[in-house]
Amino acid sequence: MPHSAAVESRVLLKRLRDALANAGEGQERLDRITALVAEALVTEVCSIYLRVGQELELCATTGLKREAVHQTRMKISQGLVGRIAATAEPVNTQDATSARGFQYFPETGEEIFASFLGVPIQRLGEVLGVLVVQNREQRSYSDDQVYAMEVVAMVIAEMAELGAFTGSAPTDLPAPHQLPVFARGVVGQEGVAEGVVLMHDPQILITNPVSDDPRAEAARLDASLSELRKEVDRMIEDDALEDSGEHRDVLNAWRMFAHDKGWVKRMHASIESGLAAEVAVEKEQSATRARMSRVSDPYLRERLHDLDDLSNRLLRLLTGGLHVKDREIPKNAILIARNIGPGELLDYGRMLSGIVLEEGSVGSHAAIVARALAIPLVIQTRGITREAHDGECILVDGDQGVVHLRPEENVIEAFRAKIDMLAAAQEAYAALRDKPAETKDGVNICLQMNAGLMADLPSLGPSGAQGVGLYRTELQFLVRRTVPQRGEQAALYSRILDSAGDLPVTFRTLDIGSDKVLPYMKRSEEPNPALGWRAIRVGLDRKGVLRMQIQALLRGARGRRLKIMFPFIAQFNEFREARSLLLEEIEREKAKGHVIPAGVEIGAMLETPSLAFAPDQFFEMADFISIGGNDLKQFFFAADRENELVRRRYDTLNVSFLTFIDQIARRCDAAGTPVSFCGEDAGRPMEALAFAAMGLRTLSMRPASIGPVKRLIRSVDLGEVREVIDTACKSGEQSVRGALVAWLEDANLKF
Ligand code: PEP
Ligand code: MG
Repeated sequence: MPHSAAVESRVLLKRLRDALANAGEGQERLDRITALVAEALVTEVCSIYLRVGQELELCATTGLKREAVHQTRMKISQGLVGRIAATAEPVNTQDATSARGFQYFPETGEEIFASFLGVPIQRLGEVLGVLVVQNREQRSYSDDQVYAMEVVAMVIAEMAELGAFTGSAPTDLPAPHQLPVFARGVVGQEGVAEGVVLMHDPQILITNPVSDDPRAEAARLDASLSELRKEVDRMIEDDALEDSGEHRDVLNAWRMFAHDKGWVKRMHASIESGLAAEVAVEKEQSATRARMSRVSDPYLRERLHDLDDLSNRLLRLLTGGLHVKDREIPKNAILIARNIGPGELLDYGRMLSGIVLEEGSVGSHAAIVARALAIPLVIQTRGITREAHDGECILVDGDQGVVHLRPEENVIEAFRAKIDMLAAAQEAYAALRDKPAETKDGVNICLQMNAGLMADLPSLGPSGAQGVGLYRTELQFLVRRTVPQRGEQAALYSRILDSAGDLPVTFRTLDIGSDKVLPYMKRSEEPNPALGWRAIRVGLDRKGVLRMQIQALLRGARGRRLKIMFPFIAQFNEFREARSLLLEEIEREKAKGHVIPAGVEIGAMLETPSLAFAPDQFFEMADFISIGGNDLKQFFFAADRENELVRRRYDTLNVSFLTFIDQIARRCDAAGTPVSFCGEDAGRPMEALAFAAMGLRTLSMRPASIGPVKRLIRSVDLGEVREVIDTACKSGEQSVRGALVAWLEDANLKF
């Protein structure tokens, strides 16, 4: 930008700021801005449209008919103004009436203006409105003028965020981000919580968007940039990255961006035109976020996210804002973040009452950690990081996957009633804790819990679980930056067995690959990772890691009994090979004179349909079998468990699936091999009942599910349940759910 243009822009911004400081209420301020911009850019019209819900309202104008103010409204994407709001891109045309999307609003009298320049008023990627100038004659607005408009729009956006345009007049707009918000996301972990917002990346309010001294602002930016670069270098050099939660490729991307000349130059240009350093950073951030919404390539999106995260860091350095680790965590904190790594989440640990993520997936590591800590989690809650501010009231309903931000009193009351009801139910479950999960006709079902972190183990006693049916060992690996060494692994396994006391723990060897990518594992690009090189396939191809883990398990047992199972066994040979490896390790330990476990049971997870048809010898060789229903179901129905479009499409109580489970149970029974079910469905009371009716006698689930499952199991006659299912299977219905629900309702049973 030429020097003279920058000087002009600075003069305009200063006049704008002075005018705003002296103006009265919101409307007056808006009017002043339009007058000033029209004068400075020598235009006949200047108008400000602000966003009200899904519409844009003409809120101030110089040059159009005044009667149209607060009357003319258009939908986002309607007309040229709507197009700017929808695309977050300027429109600059000499001939507005023939421009794409033009629409005529007769009450404004704008038909006589040929040229049109409009820019989005946006803050951090959120379009708050549109700033427009128009002229009668055909005129081409220069790049400098477009830039000047963008700079003014930035200031308007910052002022809007501060509530500068709100007032007491009936036509005034409500301050942004102060109304109640109801947001729908996806269930990440069940549970409900009322609390206060804790932003993972605190939003920064800029009280003075216009700078008096561009030189000083430029120096501040440079100092913060150099601090930022040092910070990133330190993180890359730091080998003990475990706690930072950032992966190495993210850090490398940060380093690249921190030195990106174009990025730095654009921020300096904004400062030259009169913006404060923070607003210059935000201006770039807005552009990045606008690009993010247009890019569909996942790799590019990730990199744009990295740039966004880096900008947040830069803003924190500029404003002296504290990192969350150094902030005080309020009581009943509900964490709000775009996304979060498992390590970072563990840092917060049990200090959180709930978590709401803008992104995330049900199988993400953060979701796994949230589950382990039993913290309600709602994921994929669009726009939440823009809406929420530290300290605001928020209600998280992890059962429904919804969030109420700044709720009204009646919503809070209804929510509290729900919390009380759930607490009463919990008390009822607690009363069942020491009672067996025995059906009315005397069938005993063993209910165990799934775990994956040491943090899970305290739930063992209160839940009444009869052991850990699935211990996912990979989580210890996932939350770290480097492979945990044998000694560390053994110490963890030992502590787990200590806290389980006499109750059995079934350790599953590393199940990595697919969605569980270790930060330090070289990632191979696979077209279908869920069908790819994962779990036991990795273990058998890279025996070193599997051997080390088995040694750690054998040593961690310290002479106690041990149950180990191998994940994702698709054919007999894989089990035979893994089992031989384990037996060899036992022999080696013996030869070295180490204490070996009192007994080792070796099992397989049945997670692919193929294994259900393995030779009889497999069923005879396995000491036990555990059905990994999450994977088994996705392969049975060919429906990705992570894909929101299909993951709920097929009912677990589908006749085909239940028949399949029945066949597996019968094959295990014939071989005299105990079989359990440890996928998520085991924790759903109706599904658990159906599995029990199919002959499964051990179910492993989240600790919180044990109470509801036990209550239902204790209230039924399993023989009758089986009859209901058998009849429904023959009826031609696709699922037995309808018949089961009707039967339970008839019997007045809660489920
Ligand atoms: C399963 O697939 O059901 C299972 C328990 O394993 P994971 O969910 O860890 O893949
Ligand atoms: Mg699995």
